[in-house]
Amino acid sequence: MDLTTVDAVRVARTRADVVIGPDAAVLAGGTWLYSEPQPGLRELVDVTGLGWPPVEIDDTGVTLAATCTIAELVALAPVPGWTSQHLVRSCAEALVASEKIWGAATVGGNLCTALPAGAITSLAVALDGTAVVWTPDGGERRLAVADLVTGVRTTALTPGEVLRAVHLPASTLRARAVFRRAALTPHGRSGTVVIGRLDDDGALVVTVTAGVRRPHRLRFDALPDAHDLAVALDAVDDWYDDVHGAPDWRRAMTLRLAEEARAELSPA
Ligand SMILES: Cc1cc2nc3c(=O)[nH]c(=O)nc-3n(C[C@H](O)[C@H](O)[C@H](O)COP(=O)(O)OP(=O)(O)OC[C@H]3O[C@@H](n4cnc5c(N)ncnc54)[C@H](O)[C@@H]3O)c2cc1C
Repeated sequence: MDLTTVDAVRVARTRADVVIGPDAAVLAGGTWLYSEPQPGLRELVDVTGLGWPPVEIDDTGVTLAATCTIAELVALAPVPGWTSQHLVRSCAEALVASEKIWGAATVGGNLCTALPAGAITSLAVALDGTAVVWTPDGGERRLAVADLVTGVRTTALTPGEVLRAVHLPASTLRARAVFRRAALTPHGRSGTVVIGRLDDDGALVVTVTAGVRRPHRLRFDALPDAHDLAVALDAVDDWYDDVHGAPDWRRAMTLRLAEEARAELSPA
């Protein structure tokens, strides 16, 4: 849609161009920004002109530029030993959209929109991702992606900050992981997404997104039994409520899918 209050779209080419004023916003793929009115916005700063390499792999894991598109992420070739890499496609497919949207929507845009059903939020939190943030003074800070998305449409970014990248560590990419998702309709938005991850040290990490207002990550030092898992999930108290699912349904589906994940990750 036309953003009638916006009178400038500036393409950033260098870091010095990345100045986000009080009535400005970062523009990435634009798939959310142009999907609804943005009252009060006068300027968009397009960060896709910065030319960041979308995906960089090294011994520590993978760094995804904030401008990496969902399509570029899904095109990542399988890396030997990265057992949980299948989560990339599963999470991307949880963002049910056309190839056109996948070709434009970005990792950073998805995280910073901070919708409960944020598909990249699910991926990055489940794999203990770290967000690299550019601060307005020219510096940089890092925080866990689990702490970046703080609620429905809210993040830990302060005014003028820009998400530069997300790092996913090789250690969690090498772990076994199970993906489960429930939606009210086959092509509907996620009602809940549960990702179970079994680490080398035997710890189980269960990440819940979409069904809750902010990501929840539950860590068990050893594989819990079904009862202990259910008790831990029962402590979650911010089940989300919108047209894509009622809170009691989201809670029930989450418990069921988490138990499926636990059982699948249990030794035979
Ligand atoms: C058909 C369709 C289906 C969708 N389904 C889902 C879904 O299932 N789950 C879901 O979560 N979303 C869904 N969305 C919305 C989705 O979040 C966005 O479409 C997409 O992920 C946003 O990415 P973008 O690059 O287009 O962001 P933009 O629209 O460009 O920006 C989105 C927001 O993030 C900010 N932003 C972008 N990049 C940065 C950055 N680097 N640093 C700081 N702020 C930044 C912008 O200022 C803006 O506030 C859907 C959209 C469509 C059109």
